Amino acid sequence: MKALDLYKKLPKKNCGKCSLKACMPFAISVIKGDTPLEECPLLLPEEINLLKPSLVQGDWREELILKLSAEIKTLDLAVIAPGIGAEMQGSDLKLLCFGREFFITPEGTIKTEGIMTPWIRILILHYIRTAGKDELSGRWVSYSELKAGMVKHSSFVRECEEPLLELFRNDFEKSVTALQRLEATKGKGFPTEDAWTLYLLPKVPMAILYWPDEEEFPARLKVLFDSTADTFLDVESIMFLVEGLVKNIEMMDSR
Ligand code: SF4
Repeated sequence: MKALDLYKKLPKKNCGKCSLKACMPFAISVIKGDTPLEECPLLLPEEINLLKPSLVQGDWREELILKLSAEIKTLDLAVIAPGIGAEMQGSDLKLLCFGREFFITPEGTIKTEGIMTPWIRILILHYIRTAGKDELSGRWVSYSELKAGMVKHSSFVRECEEPLLELFRNDFEKSVTALQRLEATKGKGFPTEDAWTLYLLPKVPMAILYWPDEEEFPARLKVLFDSTADTFLDVESIMFLVEGLVKNIEMMDSR
């Protein structure tokens, strides 16, 4: 199904209740696999069930999920759990991601309450498969200092730091409230008082540093990571993690 075909089947109210705020961008995002159909509260469960099988979105994502799940099956979850900051609950691995509990079975199936997109499943499976086990260093570094981060640096600025900066500039209170909902705490020892640290995954802390507009200096924002972050996730997945944070803040007023 193409985005336009999906659009024709949406309520077409442009009511703004989904994170995309209008039906056409919503249809495009669903087809890309970035947004679940369930985000439109005006669609009835029966309509969602009818539409889902015709979405061609994310075929490669589903393939990747199957591949990653197969790799997870070969791992001893109980052995890797302590290293990645997870714990076992029966035979399942329990992991916190974006403040939400996810349960991963030995077969690599992920369970959680609420909506789960293919992207979050891929992120979690990557994190488990990487099976990092470093102690956090407590040394903050920029994205470009992580392994292979330099190559992706400009994408990270464009997809993560610039959108976050816009969110902070446009609605500082909302952005801070969103961070607090994710249990961010005020950061200490940073070169700005508007600094927060948070854990979107147990072993991938990040720091967000914000400098508001001042007379001759425009606002700035920087995201930092513990120097061990690249032993728990590759830089593409780290970028996706921060993109997820951007989306989380954007969506806050539609919940
Ligand atoms: S929630 Fe989004 S997709 Fe659904 S009707 Fe409103 S604007 Fe359209």
